[in-house]
Amino acid sequence: MFFQKKIEKGTIGDVAYANGSIKFQSVKLNVYAYVIDGIAIDAGAQSLAKQFETFFDEQSIDALYCTHIHEDHTGCAAWFQQQRNIPIFLPSISLPNALKKGDYPLYRQIFWGKRRAFTANPVPETFQSRSYNWKSIFTPGHSADHTAYLNTSTGQLFSGDLFVQVRTKVIMDSESIPQIIDSIKQILSYDFKEMFCNHAGYIKDGKQMFKEKLDYLNQITYEVKKFNQQGMDVAAIQQQLFPRKYPITSFSRGQWDSKHIITSILKTLPVR
Ligand SMILES: [Zn+2]
Repeated sequence: MFFQKKIEKGTIGDVAYANGSIKFQSVKLNVYAYVIDGIAIDAGAQSLAKQFETFFDEQSIDALYCTHIHEDHTGCAAWFQQQRNIPIFLPSISLPNALKKGDYPLYRQIFWGKRRAFTANPVPETFQSRSYNWKSIFTPGHSADHTAYLNTSTGQLFSGDLFVQVRTKVIMDSESIPQIIDSIKQILSYDFKEMFCNHAGYIKDGKQMFKEKLDYLNQITYEVKKFNQQGMDVAAIQQQLFPRKYPITSFSRGQWDSKHIITSILKTLPVR
């Protein structure tokens, strides 16, 4: 199989970033890792280990903080442990899973590689880097363990996979739109402006973009409930709201599908 792999590195203020991407046939995926003030936020993917490790090697890093255990965020965690011997922090509910090698579907292994086992410490509620104060904000929905990191000294938010884009069209079967909505509301209660997303990269006015995403998801929720009340089934609602088919849906054998947006919203309704 022929994969095109790329890494793009740069800095935005005092944040160093690496954006690794991998392309196979019509599917192209990318993921960012960040380093700021001696801490790395997320560890890239194992399939791009060579690329990400050259980036991390150029940085001075005291600790690694992962936003969640997905393999595109923890791929080089074992390398950090073995080569750098630095503490690794991960949301506490994922600590037992980190001790085992990653267990996820084949297409994700093909794209992101095989995440090796590592030992992590639970993410503290607040912590310090060399000269900044930080707060962890538990924001489940994309994954059960998702945690964003806010630099409370500067107002920079490292949002993991909570944002990604305003107009979400496909999600994984494990994601929940109602939970994501609650987490966005929580994030919006904090002071921040600049945002560093693990897939969209640097966003100058992160708070505004989150407000737009919240409006969009509220609108989708309203429409799903309305069509459901009119007696439409999931397939009919999908045809109405998300008529386009995305390559990732067939590639992932349905793990990524617009349908999961609808079913996660309908799950919260009382059974009639
Ligand atoms: Zn993720």
